Amino acid sequence: MTKSTFEAVAEAQVSMEVAQKITGRTELLALIAYPIRHSDSPRMHNLALAKLGLDYAYLAFEVDAPDLEDAIRALRVLKVRGWNVSMPNKMEVIKYLDHISTAAELIGACNTIVNDNGVLRGENTDGLGYMAALREQGVETRDKKITLIGAGGAAMAIATQAALDGVASIHIFNRRDDFFAKGEANAAKISEKTNAKVSLHDLDDLETFHACVKDSAVLANATNVGFKGKLEGLSPLPDPGVLRPDLFVTDSIYAPRKTKFLEQAEAAGCRTMNGIPMMLHQGAAAFKMWTGNDMPLDYVKDHLFA
Ligand code: NAD
Repeated sequence: MTKSTFEAVAEAQVSMEVAQKITGRTELLALIAYPIRHSDSPRMHNLALAKLGLDYAYLAFEVDAPDLEDAIRALRVLKVRGWNVSMPNKMEVIKYLDHISTAAELIGACNTIVNDNGVLRGENTDGLGYMAALREQGVETRDKKITLIGAGGAAMAIATQAALDGVASIHIFNRRDDFFAKGEANAAKISEKTNAKVSLHDLDDLETFHACVKDSAVLANATNVGFKGKLEGLSPLPDPGVLRPDLFVTDSIYAPRKTKFLEQAEAAGCRTMNGIPMMLHQGAAAFKMWTGNDMPLDYVKDHLFA
């Protein structure tokens, strides 16, 4: 038997196993975004569901902005237990929900919806995922300072959860693009509603950047710079001179696994973390909200990235 035939038989056996498991009682979990076919979330959640023997299936649906309202109405009526929301629907979805969490309100975006018998609650697990990933690495941030590069969705999710988790001050640096003004308003809102001091600065202001990174425990990239494609091989770091061995350096990007930014950090002797732990933990937080179960993270990691 050739390898490809062998693989085809193995695949058919797996499909048959899945087919036998789907019954009239199987519940649906979903992801709505556009585009979405590239997402790792269906594999991540279905691996976890299968490992724990939970009677759910997680599917991705291409939903663009004009169809969002209809899609939410359908998901609510069909009592889909929960779903993830990604671009372009993360902000827009809020107006169709019954409640949103404090974090989702401060961020101004939801990536997770929980449907309790037709009552929809919006959550944002990106920041939860990032902070859980830091804790897993043994990085202590309570009462400390951190510096973020980026003022988009990921940055605001991290800043908000860091503030809610007791980080004392959060310095956000961004270039003066469309995200800047919005970032300023968000930073003010987080400062007002939490005990953290959150400030936004121009990424070109090198003096302030140096001063902020100097006493930060963590330096995080939450921009797209370094992501596979057009921005791959670039780093958002305005001056690698800020790097020092006791700085923990993270990138939200998971493709490529090691960005230019993380290469610079490693060269300076820093401990680093890429975007995969954040991705896994944001999924695990949503999984727990929907099913009440802890995601089997080691199993998912081993199979998802095998
Ligand atoms: P976004 O579009 O909301 O924000 C983009 C950010 O990048 C903004 O701050 C923008 O100013 C900055 N930026 C873009 N191009 C730039 C350039 N050329 N120079 C300097 N700054 C630039 O995007 P987002 O949703 O915040 O996502 C940002 C990154 O985080 C993406 O790579 C995404 O894949 C990653 N992410 C990872 C996870 C995870 O679980 N690991 C979760 C969310 C996002």
